[in-house]
Amino acid sequence: MKISYQAVSDVGRKRKGNEDSLFVNPEQGLFVVADGMGGHAAGEVASRLAVDAINEFICLTGDDEEITWPFGLDETISYDGNRLKTAIRYANRKVLEATKEKSEYEGMATTVAAVLVDGDSANLGHVGDSRIYLLRETRITQLTTDHSWVNEQIVSGLISPDQARSHPLRNVVTRALGGKTDLQVDMKVQKIETGDLLLLCSDGLTTMMGDEEIAGLVSEAKGDVEKAARSLVVAANAKGGEDNITVVILKFGE
Ligand code: CA
Repeated sequence: MKISYQAVSDVGRKRKGNEDSLFVNPEQGLFVVADGMGGHAAGEVASRLAVDAINEFICLTGDDEEITWPFGLDETISYDGNRLKTAIRYANRKVLEATKEKSEYEGMATTVAAVLVDGDSANLGHVGDSRIYLLRETRITQLTTDHSWVNEQIVSGLISPDQARSHPLRNVVTRALGGKTDLQVDMKVQKIETGDLLLLCSDGLTTMMGDEEIAGLVSEAKGDVEKAARSLVVAANAKGGEDNITVVILKFGE
């Protein structure tokens, strides 16, 4: 299926630097958003390391199926699912190694939300609170489940999603790359239909805007991915732009 896309990362209105990183490799069908954490510029280093490592592994396994799988094969998912899952675990190892290289990198970490498209299937892999949404006609569906403290509170029925977005602990992630070696990666496959859109984003978008606001702006753009991405960033900044804002929108056509 033909993919058109737009990718934008914006520093927002409150932060000095941009700790988000994005990577698109349309030839491989790979699209990644990562949101780094850490003091000084370490968050930026972590997210950049992660997206580069994911792309490196995806490119390596795109050409040669006879490679050695550093973490073994998961027989419950497809070949491309394995490529993506292993790429994220490989990226985790790279970030972990880097945390030991310099004292200022100690404790740095990053989220990852990644899509690897294979025909009419989108393999989704994620860790942390960056999200992937499906927009089909006027409906919006969050395909990922945040690994965050506030999401645990929502699941337990203690707070609402609206309260979560303004909660003082909204930035606390419970799973990230750079934490431990045996990282658990959430994997999913989404069947794609013509006209579908996938949105990958960092929490700088979703703490500023609710799902229905996001869906409204994307649908106003009428399939123009450039316009949709731009209007999401403008809207998140208009609401305060408290964090870095990264959006990658894919549109699937004939
Ligand atoms: Ca963030």
